[in-house]
Amino acid sequence: MATDTDRTSGGSREHSPAATAKPAVRRKRGEGQWALGHREPLNPNERTKKDDNPLNVRARIESIYAHHGFASIDPADLRGRFRWWGLYTQRKPGIDGGRTAILEPHELDDEYFMLRVRIDGGQLSLEQLRVVADISTRYARDTADITDRQNIQYHWIRIEDMPAIWQQLEAVGLSTTEACGDTPRVVLGSPVAGVSADELVDATPAIDEIVAKYVGDPALSNLPRKFKTVVSWLADVPYEANDVSFLGVVHPEHGPGFDLWVGGGLSTNPMLAQRLGVWVPLAEIPEVWKGVVEVFRDYGYRRLRNRARLKFLVADWGVAKFRQVLEDEFLGRKLIDGPAPDLPARPIDHMGAHPQRDGSCYVGASPIVGRVSGPMLHSLADVAEAHGSQRVRLTPHQKLLVLDVAPEQVEALSDALEGIGLQARPSQIRRSTMACTGIEYCKLAIVETKATAAAVIHHIESTGLDLPISVNVNGCPNACARTQVADIGLKGQLVPGPDGELVEGFQVHLGGGLTMAQGQQSGFGRKLRGLKTTTAELPSYVERLSRAYLDGRKDED
Ligand code: SF4
Repeated sequence: MATDTDRTSGGSREHSPAATAKPAVRRKRGEGQWALGHREPLNPNERTKKDDNPLNVRARIESIYAHHGFASIDPADLRGRFRWWGLYTQRKPGIDGGRTAILEPHELDDEYFMLRVRIDGGQLSLEQLRVVADISTRYARDTADITDRQNIQYHWIRIEDMPAIWQQLEAVGLSTTEACGDTPRVVLGSPVAGVSADELVDATPAIDEIVAKYVGDPALSNLPRKFKTVVSWLADVPYEANDVSFLGVVHPEHGPGFDLWVGGGLSTNPMLAQRLGVWVPLAEIPEVWKGVVEVFRDYGYRRLRNRARLKFLVADWGVAKFRQVLEDEFLGRKLIDGPAPDLPARPIDHMGAHPQRDGSCYVGASPIVGRVSGPMLHSLADVAEAHGSQRVRLTPHQKLLVLDVAPEQVEALSDALEGIGLQARPSQIRRSTMACTGIEYCKLAIVETKATAAAVIHHIESTGLDLPISVNVNGCPNACARTQVADIGLKGQLVPGPDGELVEGFQVHLGGGLTMAQGQQSGFGRKLRGLKTTTAELPSYVERLSRAYLDGRKDED
């Protein structure tokens, strides 16, 4: 059982006769765990959630705020509960990164919103894709980004338009429910689930059941922090960087099933998920997933936001205790011991054309760091349809796939995709670069990211260097684009410029990676104090690192 005796309030270190005679009593201080009786909110976020279930804010948006406009919004809804419906205020234009930390939240708020649409498993029919494109054009000034969690993210959304947007999304089975907030966020799945020749079990039914039963369930809508999930047969998703992951494995007696991992997460205190050593059949994934969420809900730390992710609980308990609590208190049964999963021979990013198991092909294409647009997505739907496809997939690397293409259509489709700015034969740098939202819209950002990453891609492509080096560009320490697990991970901060003044730049993390294939070792990139670059210098900095990598490889040959 968890105890909350390990955190103390500290005490005076002054040496006095009284202190010598009678040691100060070290007051026990809880972590705010519900299961240990700490139900009274210990910080403003917990208070907001307790005062009113954030899911209830939708009714207020539809009945009040959409009619009376931005000024009518209760601040506790605006900066707290709106997230449960995928809404964040976006950053007011023109506020530089140096002022991010010193301004009050309301001074950073624009009257427009970022809106995240959850695309569980990254799966979209063309009908859904056209609705996503239409909303971008009608309500979001043509903005749309494919995020590194297979979501679609819009900007410039007005509160007045939300009822119409929900109506359009929900008419085709899409939603923004719990796309943000302290909730079970979008479920990541393999972009080739159900079509890959390498897959033994399609995990999609488990994803669908989790979403249908539990997303929007008030009983699971007040978690200590966000909760990220992977359910995938293939190791083509970042399963080590999520709160819970189910990864395909063949048990020697029980056959194909899923290996359970818990406690991964990056941000400012990165940790990789750990195996619980259990085998879960497809049909039991939703029940076991719910059990893990309930462990988090009831035992997760709620006192400090920066210790509230599941990874801290797993780190403190260890996996043996986590498994025992999950089995004994939440599932009421023992789980079956299971082996570690086999990994593919090489990492898979699905770019280019690949055979499906039904004889047709899928074609992976790369926008630049996930940035697409309403017109581009409309064109994508038309191009896919013209080449016989009725569905696309989004990847957790900010890329997309067109499924079910006849082999004889592959070349024509690839050309047509290139014609709309989606490269089906991308350079290595284009296929392996990601960027978070950055200062353009994100209120926490210190530096610009999307245009910066695009400048790196264009520069490296112009040099003719074509190396499999991943570059993850992040606008602040929160690591939304996975700073610590790239070959070159970039954390936005102000750095000294050529004249000594502070300018936008990055702390560099070198040599990180996740285990996506046999023989690969996951680990966080090395962060050396002096390893920094300005944004202006970044393209040539990446070129120098690439050339050094190439020279090193030649020396090894
Ligand atoms: Fe915003 Fe920072 Fe996340 Fe980038 S890493 S999207 S700047 S919070």
